Amino acid sequence: MSTATTTTTTTTTTTTNLPHNLKPENLSTSNIPTSQLPQKTILDLLNTKCTTSLHHLKQAHAVVLKSGHFQDHYVAGTLVKCYANSPSSNLDFALKVFHYVPRPNVFVWNLMLKSCLDHNEAFKVVYFYYKMVVANSRPNKFTYPVVFKACTITGADKEGVQVHAHVVKLGLHGDVHIKSAAIQMYASFGLLMEARQFLDDGQECDVICWNAMIDGYLKCEETEAAKELFDSMVDKNIGSYNAMISGLAKCGRFDKARKLFDEMSDKDEITWSSIIDGYIKGGYYKEALEVFNLMQKDKIRPRKFVLSSVLCACANVAALDQGRWIHAYVKRNSMNLDAVLGTALIDMYAKCGRLDMAWEVFENMKVKEVFSWNAMIGGLAMHGQAGDAIELFFKMLRERMRPDKITFVGILSACAHAGMVDRGLEVLNNMKTTFGIEPEVEHYGCVVDLLGRAGFLAEAEKLISTMPIEPNAAVWGALLGACKKHRNIELGERVGKILVEMEPENSGRYALLSNIYANEGRWDDVAKVRKLIKERGIKTNPGISTIDLDGIVHEFKMGDGSHPLVKEIHLMLEKIIDKLKMEGYSPNASQVLFDIEEEEKETALKYHSEKLAIAFGFINTNPGTTIRIVKNLRVCEDCHSATKLISKVFERDIIVRDRVRYHHFKNGKCSCNDFW
Ligand code: ZN
Ligand code: ZN
Repeated sequence: MSTATTTTTTTTTTTTNLPHNLKPENLSTSNIPTSQLPQKTILDLLNTKCTTSLHHLKQAHAVVLKSGHFQDHYVAGTLVKCYANSPSSNLDFALKVFHYVPRPNVFVWNLMLKSCLDHNEAFKVVYFYYKMVVANSRPNKFTYPVVFKACTITGADKEGVQVHAHVVKLGLHGDVHIKSAAIQMYASFGLLMEARQFLDDGQECDVICWNAMIDGYLKCEETEAAKELFDSMVDKNIGSYNAMISGLAKCGRFDKARKLFDEMSDKDEITWSSIIDGYIKGGYYKEALEVFNLMQKDKIRPRKFVLSSVLCACANVAALDQGRWIHAYVKRNSMNLDAVLGTALIDMYAKCGRLDMAWEVFENMKVKEVFSWNAMIGGLAMHGQAGDAIELFFKMLRERMRPDKITFVGILSACAHAGMVDRGLEVLNNMKTTFGIEPEVEHYGCVVDLLGRAGFLAEAEKLISTMPIEPNAAVWGALLGACKKHRNIELGERVGKILVEMEPENSGRYALLSNIYANEGRWDDVAKVRKLIKERGIKTNPGISTIDLDGIVHEFKMGDGSHPLVKEIHLMLEKIIDKLKMEGYSPNASQVLFDIEEEEKETALKYHSEKLAIAFGFINTNPGTTIRIVKNLRVCEDCHSATKLISKVFERDIIVRDRVRYHHFKNGKCSCNDFW
């Protein structure tokens, strides 16, 4: 469709509904020549202005309108794209402008579809494709990869098959870009045979189609089929390797993925990010950081995507130095701190116990999405700063940011950690009435936790029995934790039994039930739980603490002698404990899971993984340095009181992040106020 056949609509009528400042009569005409500018000048203007600021783009928009070039589809389409890609990245503006394009041609439609996809509005892509067909605009080979991708994302299987029929009808099925997108789509629906037909139908296929098929097999966890196809490929490219590596990692086959990775002589940025991201998604943070260090040595420049995922790893193992390095790298390279990267930084700083730095990043972010607010609120909640979390929530409302369900999980857990019972109940009630968000099981879990921690065990149990959705194990778990804390053995036993049956594979459930018995000295019952664990073949989850030292993550397990410095660590621990005993510390032996002799118990306690990590920290850092530890389970009462005392006796700040919250030990006190 050529631009000459378009429309007679005048510029004036097309702009009547545009924002006030874009109407021609409101424009400053000083610098704008009224004569016709050549199309190329206009396009150059748009392409330079769209990257600077929305304000400049609006000026360029005005020039487009004044010069009459809005009738030119090439210009109008570019304008749509510019709004979508502008620094404030406003899809609504792009849609508005698109709405005024007189009878858009395929070029304009394609840009619109692509803009929607880039803005993660896959449903809109499918919708606009439909509008496009209804408007009798003939899609071309650039249309379909975008539409297939949107169908993939939205899981629109019926629509996807229909769209494929259009492709065949239009005779575009030989196009390899469309083919590879179709393979991806069919594979994502689990229709592997249909996807495979594209490779086997004897028509031209490029390596991208093959790679898409490998990717598809791996997404369906058909690792053998993927491997077979990969091995049979004559001309593999780096993308083939990348598809294998990232797919294998996603299937949890880290050894195979790593082997392939190590074998590759030429790696690109995607190769590195595939393995790093795979490790992170699988919870192998230590390995992810190791590969990231290798990447630095290879002098590969990480892109934002990799940086965000490495920050996630840093957050999870409290590798503050490495996280800080990334922050400095971002600054040094003047990288644009977008919402994703900024939020990753906030999360990292908050989880490494540096709320001050998290605040700084948050305040300096130009674009904040709801997840940025959630990260900051969640960070405050984790550190027990409920007042600040709630204040930030109100600020969020004032700035017309709509809270989502994760925001409320943050607020409710802030209330729980701070023991703000009334406020928490009020928030739960207001969620639906004021914000239209139906409380989900996580929200109820927070409130059960809130009531339980504060000692309202009966109320917590009542909430569980009256909540409109089926309580999950996390909800019961919150109540069980409260029973342990408040020594309600009768309820604890009951809830513990429910939980053990609900999640028979989860060793933590047995441990908590057993601890409840141990607290009461009911060793027979402890033994029964232990027998059950054995009978059912449950693998117990060992407590692991990690500490990051100069970019290397050190891991400690209870009673583990594998660390090269094991002797020094134990010696240091004994020194520490002796000193603590002089200050009146006596190990609380009821915390050990099983009935063993008192003396033995004391030894076992001494070597809980966080104590080993603290001793290691003492050996390797200067006096006065803050020690940061991450533990995969809850901190036990004994370790908690020992660490409090250590922070006072040795004048060290110690930050321990356990599975549920933060403990900032300082001068004999903990930020959790012994409430965890
Ligand atoms: Zn402990
Ligand atoms: Zn604490």
